Amino acid sequence: MSKLPNIGTTIFSVMSKLASKHKAINLSQGFPNFPIDSQLSEILMTKVNENVHQYMPMPGSPELLTQLSTLIEKQYKRTLNPSTELLVTAGATQGIFTTILALIEKGDEVIILDPSYDCYEPSVILAGGTPIRLPLDETFLPDWERIENAISNDTRMIITNNPHNPSGRVWSSNDMVVLEKIMSENPQLLLLSDEVYEFITFEQKHLSVHQYPSMHDRCITVSSFGKTFHITGWKIGYLSAPEKLMQEIKKVHQFNVFSVNSIAQATLASYLEVVDVSSLGKFYQKKRDLFRESMSSSNFKLLPCDGTYFQSASYKSISSKSDVDFCTSLTIDHGVATIPISVFNQDARDQKIIRFCFAKDETTLLKAAEKLCKI
Ligand code: PMP
Ligand code: GLN
Repeated sequence: MSKLPNIGTTIFSVMSKLASKHKAINLSQGFPNFPIDSQLSEILMTKVNENVHQYMPMPGSPELLTQLSTLIEKQYKRTLNPSTELLVTAGATQGIFTTILALIEKGDEVIILDPSYDCYEPSVILAGGTPIRLPLDETFLPDWERIENAISNDTRMIITNNPHNPSGRVWSSNDMVVLEKIMSENPQLLLLSDEVYEFITFEQKHLSVHQYPSMHDRCITVSSFGKTFHITGWKIGYLSAPEKLMQEIKKVHQFNVFSVNSIAQATLASYLEVVDVSSLGKFYQKKRDLFRESMSSSNFKLLPCDGTYFQSASYKSISSKSDVDFCTSLTIDHGVATIPISVFNQDARDQKIIRFCFAKDETTLLKAAEKLCKI
């Protein structure tokens, strides 16, 4: 008996393992390969000698929650009550899982937009809900007509991810306006807005659900320190929800993790007092531009990249292999590991597109591009 009969090992583990086995440059799983900010390491070192080694309060350290409300106020001009509307989670993954488990029940339909991050569907299934997977349009932006047509009285939640992994696309203000309209026309709908790449956008600024007050009473936003501070291994993030929903989310959270790693919370509370997140977009834009430039003579067709640290590309003119086979051979025969996009689609729809992670130092990006340009 399996509760998830159709789910295997995540593609991120599969490709990172393959990369390591074949000593390939790993542009597959999304994680930075450069050091963290030295100021963050210094704060971490000092915290080790402070009295921060026991359980933090269940929803999070009060200092960290206050810093988070300040960050959201500064960034999005939204005032949140740190003690009732914010929760520190063990990464965005736990925030998403806990939210879905708390708010979705048997008979509830949950709209997921494909290609979709791989933790959404299993969370919905484990909660007893029914995932309704709808493709994004050909450019990886929402197909609003399709979404509106799919909404029924049973639709309880829509999960959105902007900036979008794996495509790197960022929504326009028109997309946000349509989302707002859909939410207002469907009062039974909850919105789970996965914004883990909120600070990594380039020419176009990220529009957060935080900036749209009409949706606040039914919206849960999810963020991740992993992406924002290059600390994916710390597994720490946070979510916001209106108090009524948060009470339900906390009921699950307290028996899911109880409270999140105390040293990480204490460190981040102090770091948030001094760090400026507004430079992150520029930092990654340089990497995106370097990678795109160094790939300009390759046979890959690079697709638009407005945000995140992922560059997607079509390999149609190189091979007719399935994207999974193509990524396997790219790793084994050409020494660069990447992610096939079909695994994020219902029924593994294969568009012959793969994803490169450019959260890497310059040398790694240039070496990878050199190999890729020979194919
Ligand atoms: N959502 C998206 C879109 C992601 O790309 C990721 C991870 N990389 C997560 C959620 C999970 O984040 P975390 O590592 O903080 O659990
Ligand atoms: N979110 C990361 C990615 O998209 C991977 C996270 C993980 O390995 N679970 O590559």
